[in-house]
Amino acid sequence: MGSLLNRGLKPASTLAADKPHGTRIKYMGGCRCAPCKAANTAYERERSIARKQGDWNGLVPASRARQHILALSRDGVGRKAVCAASDVAESIVVAIRSGQKTQIRAQTERKILAVTRDARSGHALVPAIRTWRLIDKMLRWGYSKSELAKRLGYANRALQFQKTNVTVRNAFDVQQLYNAIVNEREAEKLAKKKTLDMGYEQKVIRRSGKVDLQKPASLWQTWGGYRDDTGRV
Ligand SMILES: [Zn+2]
Repeated sequence: MGSLLNRGLKPASTLAADKPHGTRIKYMGGCRCAPCKAANTAYERERSIARKQGDWNGLVPASRARQHILALSRDGVGRKAVCAASDVAESIVVAIRSGQKTQIRAQTERKILAVTRDARSGHALVPAIRTWRLIDKMLRWGYSKSELAKRLGYANRALQFQKTNVTVRNAFDVQQLYNAIVNEREAEKLAKKKTLDMGYEQKVIRRSGKVDLQKPASLWQTWGGYRDDTGRV
């Protein structure tokens, strides 16, 4: 109660004093008569429906996202900028754009529709949280900061990103580096497995995570790897 008063807000009981019954504010003020309880129940129900819709991640037609991507493109926001700003995989953005993908997850749609033309220049800022998460992962895998900086092409060999925001360009570069390193690690793992497990042939290699694998297909075919249309190998 003290904090409410500090913020200049009145407690619910005061606000409710002159309100009619059958309102949520009256319920908040402590009234438990049937109309006030009903009003509160109705409010809770609406809120829970709204919350579910916000989290809802069913399939929706890809057309709205596609129109948005095309409009962004006309405004000079290319697909790489869309990926970086929306955190949606490039392969998915490409498939939506080409019309190959006709249905997408609701959350994917929300992310794409949230991209504005501000993403146009690589200098636009996006939240840094994902970039740092990827960097932390690579550091845990044993890559040094200066090594990562070097591979990112930073002449001073330092990772100088802000904690809260990074540019679209930097976010994209770090994502690409991360993809490349994931691929290298997978290839290494496979090579090790090959040495340990001669004669291993037709088993399907299952991996988790979305990695756009751009290594020669032959390596994967040798090991019975396959690529399905989600880009998973
Ligand atoms: Zn009441």
